[in-house]
Amino acid sequence: MNTTGYPPGKPLRVALLGCGNVGSQVARILLEDAENLGLRAGAPLELTGIAVRSLDAERDADLPRELFTQDAEELIANADIVIELMGGIEPARSLILGAIGHGASVVSGNKALLAKDGPALYEKADAAGVQLSYEAAVAGAVPILRPIRDSLSGDRIRRVLGIVNGTTNYILDQMDSTGASFGDALKDAQALGYAEADPTADVEGHDAAAKAAILASLSFHTRFALEDVYCEGITSVTADDVAAAKDDGYVIKLLAIAEFWNDDSGDPGVSVRVHPTLLPRTHPLAAVHGAFNAVFIEAENAGELMFYGQGAGGTPTASAVLGDVVSAARRMVLGGPGRTETTTGHVPARGIETVSTSYSIGLDVTDQPGVLAKIAHIFADTGVSIETMRQRIDQTGQDGEPTAELRIVTHRALEASLAATVTQIAALPVINAVTSVLRVEGI
Ligand code: NAP
Repeated sequence: MNTTGYPPGKPLRVALLGCGNVGSQVARILLEDAENLGLRAGAPLELTGIAVRSLDAERDADLPRELFTQDAEELIANADIVIELMGGIEPARSLILGAIGHGASVVSGNKALLAKDGPALYEKADAAGVQLSYEAAVAGAVPILRPIRDSLSGDRIRRVLGIVNGTTNYILDQMDSTGASFGDALKDAQALGYAEADPTADVEGHDAAAKAAILASLSFHTRFALEDVYCEGITSVTADDVAAAKDDGYVIKLLAIAEFWNDDSGDPGVSVRVHPTLLPRTHPLAAVHGAFNAVFIEAENAGELMFYGQGAGGTPTASAVLGDVVSAARRMVLGGPGRTETTTGHVPARGIETVSTSYSIGLDVTDQPGVLAKIAHIFADTGVSIETMRQRIDQTGQDGEPTAELRIVTHRALEASLAATVTQIAALPVINAVTSVLRVEGI
């Protein structure tokens, strides 16, 4: 029985902006499963229209033509809930602000926009007393934002490690399982539709960085912007790096990391970063293969948690969008939007130079007596301690000199100290090249 004053049977008007991969599936399910969704929401959900660029384009689902319009402004002016699935910054941003201005709750999957302008949008939504939700923006179908925001709001999250980009996980997984080069694994991903013709946003880590900003903001109750995220992609990860990591019992993953710690003075701070990372093969995230996504959370009381599933795809992502729609509808029926998130944490973002982690360093060295001592001396001087040092391959350099490849894994060290160590080592005459420097997590 509805005791909240919301008129029984009165539909909530749902406007959809965009009918591409995700939007077409959201529209299809809204129409096909209307009865169930209405029962769960507490009111019928009426799809009032779908705004698109082209009225003639083929759609992935069979949808009534009369729902389509090019007039998004008019559509949002008469909606209770607006679903934004156009992507990009404009006109998505203006339309979301317009919807909020009209008193509608908004559901979006637009990580690029939320990472860029999220704080301004959340403030507008809070001020207007409407809900802005975006479960689909991080890890597609995987329910991760609501658990962080709601289920873990009684706990303290310490660290979040996420595989939040399926394209890069597919590429690195192919390199690990077949020994392929980055270029060949990328071509394979493009042939299978896992990577776009222009893969920059994925392989340079930009897509994961946007998601890292969103994960960090919710996890630490502080608004972190894209500029707070240190970002390195996977384009320089070589087949040799992957093989060496494998030999040492690691796998390389592109991780989105948000980590809280108090510095030596006891001041809190959060490091938000995206970079290729060595993980022990026994770590739960090491078992995430192909284009799948997963987020691993370490919380003070809950301990370790992992959320796993499909990070993209029209129908899986539509599941996350519709979860937000039903939740927004329920709140309307029950008479209030509630707060979408809290921002009372006020913890500053830390620069990458303050991060402390272990590193795996690859060196191509001249195979002469005394080389190891020279290298070890620099480590001792810079205060970076070595956990393991392994000579990998004996080979002959271009000038016929014998060379060797060294792999050094360090104990935890400050990024700034590690950078100083690598600079000094690279300057040694016995060093032919520093072939890789990769961070290690999960040990
Ligand atoms: P998409 O296939 O490119 O579809 C975009 C839709 O928006 C198209 O229907 C397009 O209309 C419409 N559109 C774009 N600009 C418009 C404008 N100026 N006016 C009116 N309509 C406009 O995108 P998608 O893959 O469905 O992704 C949608 C959003 O979900 C993005 O923010 C994306 O980051 C996010 N997301 C996607 C996935 C996924 O697996 N695809 C996963 C998680 C999150 P036309 O069709 O007429 O051109």
